[in-house]
Amino acid sequence: MRAILHCDLNNFFASVEMLSKPELRQVPMAVSGDPNKRHGIILAKNYKAKAYGIYTPETVYSALKKCPNLVLVKPHYEEYVKYSKLVNEVYKKYTDRVEKFSIDESFLDVTESINIFGTPYEIAYKIKEEIKQKYGLTISVGVSFCKVLAKLGSDMKKPDAITVLDEETYREKTDNLPVSMMIFVGKNTTQKLEKMGIKTIGDLRASNKYRLVKHLGKQGELIHNWANGIDNDPVKYYYEKYERKSISKGITFEADKDNYIELEKEFLKLTSDVSYSLRKEKFKGDVISIVLKTADFVSISRQKKTEYTNAYDDISKEVLELFNDNFKAGMQIRYICVGVSGLKKSDAEEQIDLFSLVEDNKQKK
Ligand SMILES: [Mg+2]
Repeated sequence: MRAILHCDLNNFFASVEMLSKPELRQVPMAVSGDPNKRHGIILAKNYKAKAYGIYTPETVYSALKKCPNLVLVKPHYEEYVKYSKLVNEVYKKYTDRVEKFSIDESFLDVTESINIFGTPYEIAYKIKEEIKQKYGLTISVGVSFCKVLAKLGSDMKKPDAITVLDEETYREKTDNLPVSMMIFVGKNTTQKLEKMGIKTIGDLRASNKYRLVKHLGKQGELIHNWANGIDNDPVKYYYEKYERKSISKGITFEADKDNYIELEKEFLKLTSDVSYSLRKEKFKGDVISIVLKTADFVSISRQKKTEYTNAYDDISKEVLELFNDNFKAGMQIRYICVGVSGLKKSDAEEQIDLFSLVEDNKQKK
Protein backbone atom coordinates (compact mmCIF):
# COMPACT_ATOMS: atom_id res chain seq x y z
CA MET A 1 0.00 0.00 0.00
CA ARG A 2 1.39 3.37 -1.01
CA ALA A 3 1.21 6.54 1.09
CA ILE A 4 0.41 9.52 -1.10
CA LEU A 5 -0.12 13.15 -0.08
CA HIS A 6 -1.65 15.91 -2.14
CA CYS A 7 -0.64 19.31 -0.77
CA ASP A 8 -2.61 22.35 -1.90
CA LEU A 9 -1.71 25.91 -0.88
CA ASN A 10 -4.88 27.71 0.24
CA ASN A 11 -5.90 30.78 -1.80
CA PHE A 12 -2.30 30.87 -2.91
CA PHE A 13 -2.01 34.15 -4.86
CA ALA A 14 -4.22 36.02 -2.40
CA SER A 15 -2.34 34.57 0.58
CA VAL A 16 1.02 35.69 -0.81
CA GLU A 17 -0.36 39.20 -1.34
CA MET A 18 -1.59 39.27 2.27
CA LEU A 19 1.91 38.40 3.53
CA SER A 20 3.25 41.76 2.40
CA LYS A 21 0.02 43.68 3.08
CA PRO A 22 -1.56 42.18 6.23
CA GLU A 23 -4.28 44.88 6.21
CA LEU A 24 -5.79 43.01 3.23
CA ARG A 25 -6.80 40.24 5.65
CA GLN A 26 -9.49 42.49 7.10
CA VAL A 27 -11.32 43.18 3.81
CA PRO A 28 -12.77 41.19 0.92
CA MET A 29 -9.90 41.15 -1.59
CA ALA A 30 -9.04 39.49 -4.86
CA VAL A 31 -6.06 39.26 -7.18
CA SER A 32 -7.11 40.16 -10.69
CA GLY A 33 -5.59 40.58 -14.12
CA ASP A 34 -6.13 44.28 -14.56
CA PRO A 35 -8.12 45.91 -11.76
CA ASN A 36 -8.86 48.89 -13.97
CA LYS A 37 -10.50 46.91 -16.74
CA ARG A 38 -13.96 45.49 -16.39
CA HIS A 39 -13.03 42.41 -18.36
CA GLY A 40 -10.10 41.62 -16.08
CA ILE A 41 -10.34 38.22 -14.46
CA ILE A 42 -10.36 37.19 -10.80
CA LEU A 43 -7.35 34.92 -10.27
CA ALA A 44 -7.65 34.38 -6.52
CA LYS A 45 -9.64 35.66 -3.59
CA ASN A 46 -9.49 35.60 0.20
CA TYR A 47 -12.21 34.04 2.37
CA LYS A 48 -13.93 37.37 2.98
CA ALA A 49 -14.39 37.76 -0.80
CA LYS A 50 -15.44 34.13 -1.16
CA ALA A 51 -18.29 34.81 1.27
CA TYR A 52 -19.77 37.07 -1.44
CA GLY A 53 -19.86 34.16 -3.87
CA ILE A 54 -16.87 35.34 -5.85
CA TYR A 55 -15.13 32.54 -7.72
CA THR A 56 -12.24 31.97 -10.14
CA PRO A 57 -12.14 32.60 -13.03
CA GLU A 58 -14.82 35.28 -12.97
CA THR A 59 -14.70 38.71 -14.55
CA VAL A 60 -13.94 41.71 -12.35
CA TYR A 61 -17.17 43.22 -13.60
CA SER A 62 -19.29 40.40 -12.29
CA ALA A 63 -17.32 40.17 -9.01
CA LEU A 64 -17.80 43.89 -8.33
CA LYS A 65 -21.52 43.49 -8.86
CA LYS A 66 -21.57 40.94 -6.04
CA CYS A 67 -19.26 42.94 -3.81
CA PRO A 68 -18.78 46.63 -4.66
CA ASN A 69 -16.22 47.04 -1.84
CA LEU A 70 -13.98 44.30 -3.20
CA VAL A 71 -10.31 45.38 -3.00
CA LEU A 72 -8.47 44.40 -6.18
CA VAL A 73 -4.76 43.71 -6.23
CA LYS A 74 -2.49 43.21 -9.25
CA PRO A 75 -0.74 39.82 -9.45
CA HIS A 76 2.98 39.51 -8.63
CA TYR A 77 3.92 36.33 -10.44
CA GLU A 78 7.61 36.41 -9.47
CA GLU A 79 6.54 36.26 -5.82
CA TYR A 80 4.22 33.30 -6.46
CA VAL A 81 6.98 31.41 -8.28
CA LYS A 82 9.40 32.19 -5.45
CA TYR A 83 7.06 30.88 -2.73
CA SER A 84 6.07 27.88 -4.82
CA LYS A 85 9.73 26.86 -5.04
CA LEU A 86 10.31 27.42 -1.31
CA VAL A 87 7.29 25.30 -0.40
CA ASN A 88 8.38 22.49 -2.74
CA GLU A 89 11.80 22.58 -1.08
CA VAL A 90 10.03 21.75 2.19
CA TYR A 91 8.20 18.84 0.51
CA LYS A 92 11.52 17.55 -0.84
CA LYS A 93 12.91 17.26 2.68
CA TYR A 94 10.39 14.47 3.29
CA THR A 95 10.68 12.56 0.00
CA ASP A 96 12.32 12.85 -3.41
CA ARG A 97 9.07 11.82 -5.03
CA VAL A 98 7.51 15.26 -5.34
CA GLU A 99 5.45 15.88 -8.45
CA LYS A 100 4.55 19.48 -9.01
CA PHE A 101 1.01 19.48 -10.38
CA SER A 102 0.57 23.24 -10.61
CA ILE A 103 2.06 26.35 -9.03
CA ASP A 104 0.19 25.68 -5.77
CA GLU A 105 -0.28 21.89 -5.78
CA SER A 106 2.08 18.94 -5.46
CA PHE A 107 1.77 15.19 -5.05
CA LEU A 108 4.16 13.47 -2.62
CA ASP A 109 4.82 9.76 -2.33
CA VAL A 110 5.94 9.28 1.29
CA THR A 111 5.79 5.46 1.37
CA GLU A 112 9.54 5.24 1.92
CA SER A 113 9.55 8.06 4.47
CA ILE A 114 7.31 6.41 7.06
CA ASN A 115 10.20 4.79 8.93
CA ILE A 116 11.97 8.12 9.27
CA PHE A 117 9.20 10.68 9.77
CA GLY A 118 6.18 8.80 11.14
CA THR A 119 2.75 7.87 9.84
CA PRO A 120 1.45 9.51 6.66
CA TYR A 121 -0.79 11.72 8.83
CA GLU A 122 2.16 12.73 11.01
CA ILE A 123 4.20 13.56 7.92
CA ALA A 124 1.35 15.66 6.53
CA TYR A 125 1.08 17.47 9.87
CA LYS A 126 4.82 18.18 10.06
CA ILE A 127 4.87 19.56 6.52
CA LYS A 128 1.78 21.69 7.09
CA GLU A 129 3.16 23.20 10.31
CA GLU A 130 6.62 23.80 8.85
CA ILE A 131 5.21 25.76 5.91
CA LYS A 132 2.94 27.78 8.19
CA GLN A 133 5.74 28.59 10.60
CA LYS A 134 8.37 29.41 7.97
CA TYR A 135 6.31 31.25 5.36
CA GLY A 136 2.96 32.12 6.94
CA LEU A 137 1.13 30.11 4.27
CA THR A 138 -1.41 27.38 4.96
CA ILE A 139 -1.97 24.19 3.01
CA SER A 140 -4.68 21.54 2.85
CA VAL A 141 -3.45 17.99 2.62
CA GLY A 142 -5.17 14.88 1.37
CA VAL A 143 -3.65 11.62 2.64
CA SER A 144 -4.45 8.41 0.80
CA PHE A 145 -3.10 5.37 -1.03
CA CYS A 146 -3.39 6.83 -4.55
CA LYS A 147 -3.15 10.21 -6.25
CA VAL A 148 -6.81 10.62 -7.20
CA LEU A 149 -8.08 10.11 -3.64
CA ALA A 150 -5.29 12.23 -2.12
CA LYS A 151 -6.33 15.05 -4.43
CA LEU A 152 -9.97 14.60 -3.46
CA GLY A 153 -9.03 14.64 0.22
CA SER A 154 -7.19 17.95 -0.01
CA ASP A 155 -10.39 19.54 -1.35
CA MET A 156 -12.61 18.18 1.43
CA LYS A 157 -11.39 20.37 4.27
CA LYS A 158 -9.68 23.75 4.02
CA PRO A 159 -7.85 25.85 4.97
CA ASP A 160 -5.02 24.51 7.09
CA ALA A 161 -6.42 20.99 7.30
CA ILE A 162 -5.65 17.31 6.76
CA THR A 163 -8.11 14.72 5.43
CA VAL A 164 -7.23 11.04 5.52
CA LEU A 165 -8.93 8.72 3.03
CA ASP A 166 -7.54 5.29 3.79
CA GLU A 167 -8.56 1.88 2.50
CA GLU A 168 -10.99 1.37 5.42
CA THR A 169 -12.70 4.78 5.41
CA TYR A 170 -12.52 6.29 1.93
CA ARG A 171 -15.85 4.88 0.80
CA GLU A 172 -18.05 6.22 3.60
CA LYS A 173 -16.17 9.52 3.64
CA THR A 174 -16.68 10.17 -0.08
CA ASP A 175 -20.01 8.45 -0.77
CA ASN A 176 -22.07 11.66 -0.62
CA LEU A 177 -19.67 14.00 -2.44
CA PRO A 178 -20.77 15.26 -5.87
CA VAL A 179 -19.00 13.52 -8.77
CA SER A 180 -17.69 16.90 -9.96
CA MET A 181 -15.30 16.95 -6.98
CA MET A 182 -13.29 14.16 -8.56
CA ILE A 183 -10.27 15.30 -10.55
CA PHE A 184 -10.78 15.61 -14.32
CA VAL A 185 -14.57 15.34 -14.01
CA GLY A 186 -15.63 18.57 -15.71
CA LYS A 187 -18.97 20.15 -16.44
CA ASN A 188 -19.76 17.99 -19.49
CA THR A 189 -18.91 14.70 -17.83
CA THR A 190 -20.90 15.74 -14.75
CA GLN A 191 -23.94 16.41 -16.93
CA LYS A 192 -23.61 13.10 -18.73
CA LEU A 193 -23.30 11.26 -15.43
CA GLU A 194 -26.32 13.06 -14.03
CA LYS A 195 -28.37 11.94 -16.99
CA MET A 196 -27.38 8.38 -16.10
CA GLY A 197 -28.61 8.99 -12.55
CA ILE A 198 -25.08 9.22 -11.15
CA LYS A 199 -24.78 12.25 -8.87
CA THR A 200 -22.40 11.27 -6.10
CA ILE A 201 -19.09 9.51 -5.94
CA GLY A 202 -20.95 6.72 -4.15
CA ASP A 203 -23.30 6.41 -7.14
CA LEU A 204 -20.30 6.29 -9.45
CA ARG A 205 -18.62 3.61 -7.35
CA ALA A 206 -21.72 1.43 -7.38
CA SER A 207 -22.46 1.96 -11.07
CA ASN A 208 -21.89 -0.64 -13.75
CA LYS A 209 -18.48 -0.11 -15.35
CA TYR A 210 -19.58 -1.53 -18.69
CA ARG A 211 -22.49 0.92 -18.87
CA LEU A 212 -20.13 3.79 -18.10
CA VAL A 213 -17.78 2.73 -20.88
CA LYS A 214 -20.76 2.63 -23.22
CA HIS A 215 -21.72 6.22 -22.42
CA LEU A 216 -18.35 7.86 -21.72
CA GLY A 217 -15.85 5.70 -23.57
CA LYS A 218 -12.50 5.05 -21.96
CA GLN A 219 -12.98 7.90 -19.53
CA GLY A 220 -15.88 5.94 -18.08
CA GLU A 221 -13.55 3.13 -17.12
CA LEU A 222 -11.01 5.53 -15.64
CA ILE A 223 -13.42 7.37 -13.35
CA HIS A 224 -15.11 4.14 -12.26
CA ASN A 225 -11.70 2.81 -11.27
CA TRP A 226 -10.85 6.02 -9.43
CA ALA A 227 -14.08 5.98 -7.46
CA ASN A 228 -13.10 2.46 -6.40
CA GLY A 229 -9.62 3.48 -5.33
CA ILE A 230 -7.94 1.92 -8.36
CA ASP A 231 -5.24 4.35 -9.53
CA ASN A 232 -1.67 3.14 -9.96
CA ASP A 233 -0.33 6.34 -11.46
CA PRO A 234 3.09 6.85 -9.85
CA VAL A 235 4.19 10.13 -8.26
CA LYS A 236 7.04 11.34 -10.41
CA TYR A 237 10.40 12.46 -9.14
CA TYR A 238 10.85 16.22 -8.94
CA TYR A 239 13.28 16.35 -11.85
CA GLU A 240 11.17 14.11 -14.14
CA LYS A 241 8.63 16.83 -14.81
CA TYR A 242 11.17 18.69 -16.86
CA GLU A 243 11.88 15.72 -19.09
CA ARG A 244 8.29 15.28 -20.05
CA LYS A 245 7.64 15.76 -23.71
CA SER A 246 4.65 17.50 -25.12
CA ILE A 247 3.38 18.71 -28.46
CA SER A 248 1.50 21.99 -28.53
CA LYS A 249 0.31 24.67 -30.93
CA GLY A 250 -0.79 28.18 -30.09
CA ILE A 251 -1.99 31.25 -31.89
CA THR A 252 -1.95 34.96 -31.05
CA PHE A 253 -4.87 36.84 -32.61
CA GLU A 254 -4.38 40.13 -34.40
CA ALA A 255 -7.52 41.40 -32.73
CA ASP A 256 -8.79 40.06 -29.40
CA LYS A 257 -11.64 37.58 -29.71
CA ASP A 258 -14.63 37.31 -27.40
CA ASN A 259 -16.92 35.23 -29.62
CA TYR A 260 -17.46 31.70 -28.35
CA ILE A 261 -18.11 30.13 -31.76
CA GLU A 262 -15.07 31.78 -33.36
CA LEU A 263 -12.82 30.69 -30.52
CA GLU A 264 -14.20 27.17 -30.75
CA LYS A 265 -13.24 27.09 -34.44
CA GLU A 266 -9.72 28.29 -33.63
CA PHE A 267 -9.37 25.59 -30.98
CA LEU A 268 -10.41 22.93 -33.48
CA LYS A 269 -7.84 24.16 -36.02
CA LEU A 270 -5.07 23.94 -33.41
CA THR A 271 -6.30 20.51 -32.32
CA SER A 272 -6.13 19.31 -35.89
CA ASP A 273 -2.49 20.51 -36.15
CA VAL A 274 -1.55 18.90 -32.83
CA SER A 275 -3.16 15.55 -33.60
CA TYR A 276 -1.52 15.54 -37.04
CA SER A 277 1.93 16.16 -35.48
CA LEU A 278 1.33 13.41 -32.92
CA ARG A 279 0.44 10.90 -35.62
CA LYS A 280 3.31 11.97 -37.86
CA GLU A 281 5.82 11.57 -35.04
CA LYS A 282 4.10 8.36 -33.86
CA PHE A 283 3.18 9.62 -30.39
CA LYS A 284 0.17 9.24 -28.18
CA GLY A 285 -0.38 11.33 -25.07
CA ASP A 286 -2.65 11.09 -22.06
CA VAL A 287 -2.80 14.69 -20.81
CA ILE A 288 -4.66 17.25 -22.88
CA SER A 289 -4.28 20.91 -22.06
CA ILE A 290 -5.43 24.32 -23.17
CA VAL A 291 -4.23 27.84 -22.45
CA LEU A 292 -6.41 30.94 -22.67
CA LYS A 293 -4.58 34.26 -22.44
CA THR A 294 -6.67 37.38 -22.07
CA ALA A 295 -6.05 40.88 -23.42
CA ASP A 296 -4.58 41.86 -20.05
CA PHE A 297 -2.18 38.91 -20.09
CA VAL A 298 -3.95 36.75 -17.57
CA SER A 299 -3.21 33.16 -18.45
CA ILE A 300 -5.59 30.31 -17.65
CA SER A 301 -4.11 26.83 -18.11
CA ARG A 302 -6.22 23.74 -17.66
CA GLN A 303 -5.44 20.10 -18.27
CA LYS A 304 -7.25 16.83 -18.41
CA LYS A 305 -6.11 13.26 -18.09
CA THR A 306 -7.43 10.78 -20.65
CA GLU A 307 -6.50 7.48 -22.16
CA TYR A 308 -3.54 7.53 -24.54
CA THR A 309 -4.62 8.98 -27.86
CA ASN A 310 -3.54 10.87 -30.94
CA ALA A 311 -6.98 10.93 -32.55
CA TYR A 312 -8.51 14.25 -33.51
CA ASP A 313 -11.95 13.20 -32.24
CA ASP A 314 -10.69 12.28 -28.76
CA ILE A 315 -8.54 15.36 -28.37
CA SER A 316 -11.07 17.84 -29.74
CA LYS A 317 -13.75 16.51 -27.41
CA GLU A 318 -11.55 17.21 -24.37
CA VAL A 319 -10.30 20.54 -25.71
CA LEU A 320 -13.82 21.83 -26.27
CA GLU A 321 -14.87 20.64 -22.84
CA LEU A 322 -11.95 22.45 -21.20
CA PHE A 323 -12.71 25.57 -23.21
CA ASN A 324 -16.40 25.42 -22.35
CA ASP A 325 -15.63 24.97 -18.64
CA ASN A 326 -13.25 27.90 -18.44
CA PHE A 327 -14.39 30.54 -20.90
CA LYS A 328 -16.64 33.17 -19.38
CA ALA A 329 -18.72 35.67 -21.33
CA GLY A 330 -16.91 38.99 -21.47
CA MET A 331 -13.41 37.52 -21.66
CA GLN A 332 -11.28 39.17 -24.34
CA ILE A 333 -8.95 36.46 -25.63
CA ARG A 334 -5.59 37.33 -27.16
CA TYR A 335 -3.89 33.94 -27.32
CA ILE A 336 -4.93 30.28 -27.16
CA CYS A 337 -2.98 27.05 -27.14
CA VAL A 338 -3.68 23.32 -27.32
CA GLY A 339 -1.21 20.77 -25.99
CA VAL A 340 -0.88 17.05 -25.51
CA SER A 341 1.70 15.71 -23.04
CA GLY A 342 2.53 12.51 -21.20
CA LEU A 343 3.74 11.21 -24.54
CA LYS A 344 4.79 7.70 -25.42
CA LYS A 345 5.46 6.05 -28.77
CA SER A 346 2.14 5.01 -30.24
CA ASP A 347 3.23 1.49 -31.16
CA ALA A 348 3.71 0.78 -27.44
CA GLU A 349 0.08 1.36 -26.69
CA GLU A 350 -1.94 -1.16 -24.74
CA GLN A 351 -5.47 -1.64 -25.95
CA ILE A 352 -8.34 -1.38 -23.53
CA ASP A 353 -9.64 -4.89 -23.15
CA LEU A 354 -13.42 -4.98 -23.10
CA PHE A 355 -13.39 -8.65 -22.21
CA SER A 356 -11.47 -7.94 -19.05
CA LEU A 357 -14.09 -5.34 -18.16
CA VAL A 358 -16.77 -7.97 -18.46
CA GLU A 359 -14.69 -10.29 -16.29
CA ASP A 360 -14.30 -7.57 -13.66
CA ASN A 361 -18.04 -7.15 -13.48
CA LYS A 362 -18.57 -10.86 -13.08
CA GLN A 363 -16.11 -11.09 -10.24
CA LYS A 364 -17.84 -8.32 -8.34
CA LYS A 365 -21.14 -10.13 -8.16
MG1 LIG B 1 -4.75 25.98 -4.09
